Parts: sequence; C-alpha cells; structure tokens
Amino acid sequence: LRQQVSQMERLSLVGRMAASITHEIRNPMAVVRGFVQLMQERTTLEHQKPFFELIVAELDRTNEIINDFLSLAQNRITPKQMLELNDLIRAMHPLIAAEANMRRIGIRLLLDSDVPPLLLNDKEIKQLILNLTRNAVEAMDDGGVLTVETRFDGEAGEARMIVSDTGPGIPPQTLERLFEPFFTTKERGTGLGLTVCLSIVDNHGGRIDIRSEEGKGTDFIVTLKAEAADSDG
Ligand code: ADP
Ligand code: MG
Repeated sequence: LRQQVSQMERLSLVGRMAASITHEIRNPMAVVRGFVQLMQERTTLEHQKPFFELIVAELDRTNEIINDFLSLAQNRITPKQMLELNDLIRAMHPLIAAEANMRRIGIRLLLDSDVPPLLLNDKEIKQLILNLTRNAVEAMDDGGVLTVETRFDGEAGEARMIVSDTGPGIPPQTLERLFEPFFTTKERGTGLGLTVCLSIVDNHGGRIDIRSEEGKGTDFIVTLKAEAADSDG
C-alpha cells in the first residue's frame, strides 16, 4: 500500500510540475506574441508582414502543443456530472461552424433526443468534440459535409457520438498509428489531438471506433456507457 501511495504522489507531482512549467512558458510566450503583433502593425516594411504572421502562427501552434501536453500529463480524475451530450454538441456548434464556413463545408447535426443524461466532464467532452470535428474539417480541403450524430442504444445502455466527414478517408498504414502521440500527416499538425481524445474517452470508461473508406470519408464513433445517476463512474 505504501508503495502505491508514493507512486500516486509521484504521478501527481509530475502533473503539477507539468502544469507549472507550461504556465512559466505560456506567460513569456504571450508577451512575445503581443510584441510581435505590435511590430507587425507598426512596421513600414510591407514585405516583412508575412514573417510576423508566421511567427504568431508558430507561437499559437506551440501554445496548442503545450495545452494538449498539459491535459495529458495531468491525467487526473476529472469531476463529472450528469449532462446532456446533445447540449454540449449544440454549445460547440458556433465554433465548429466558424471553422467549417471558411472551407465551404456544410454541417449536419443529427441529435437523438433519446440519449439520456450521461456522467460527463463538461470541459473534456467539449475538447473531444472540438478535436474530432476539427480533424474532420481539416480532412475536407475541397469542401464537403461534416455530420455530428448521436444515438442511444437502450438495450446495450450505450450512447454514441459519431463524427463523420466526406473527406479522403484514412489509408491503413495511417490508421495503425492514429493515436500515437505526435503522429501527424499535416504540415502544421501537433499529432496530439487524437491522443487527447483517447485519454478523454478512457477517462469516461468509453471507447473510440473508426470506420473509414478511402475516397468516401471517415466516421469516428465514440461509445459511452449510460449509467445510473448515483454511480461515480
Ligand atoms: P493532427 O490533427 O495535429 O495531425 P491528430 O492526432 O488530431 O493530429 O490526428 C492525427 C492524424 O490522423 C492526422 O494527421 C491525420 O492524418 C489523421 N486523421 C485524423 N482524423 C482524420 C479524418 N477525419 N480524416 C482523415 N485523416 C484523419
Ligand atoms: Mg487534430
């Protein structure tokens, strides 16, 4: 038992260290970002503006990696409440739409009102929705349709959220490595999006399945157990 306790303490120490290190990095980075933007606005050399834009974009990417890393490193038991999955999807809709509109992508929400309230961590599930829909949007370079669907399987006591795109699909060799940390096929990808998704779904005792057909598109299927309200998950 003693061994166990000290191991848990060490884990949370690593989590706390990760949190304070990322905090110490994020603050100076925000200052740098602010001044770079100021320089971009003030410069009289038009041809230099794209360089400043690039610096800001790369700073933003670094910040994204730090955020994803932080949520993985902390790996804590997150508080959960009985929440409506459909409400969380609706709450994310404007953000998803903003990203989709820039690429001529249509959005369909097919939300099953039979899905009961589920034991969820609000922040994590929103992050999950965002990461999956963002990947779907990024897969559809030439436009397409993004569908977010929910379904309730009463017999199995399982709720499903299916994020589908009409993109190019995922080749088998990529499929194998999808959840590896830092695996990306994108020039500006972090490769942490799906790693975070997997950790979130794990945290909720659920699973992720993938259905993909080359040339047709991809479905990410998240399955969550519907539990009694008095269970602690
Ligand atoms: P990133 O988006 O930063 O590359 P992710 O972990 O979110 O990292 O995704 C890893 C890789 O999985 C992507 O680079 C891409 O190759 C593949 N992928 C994820 N979602 C899709 C999708 N909907 N369609 C096609 N490929 C996808
Ligand atoms: Mg991603």
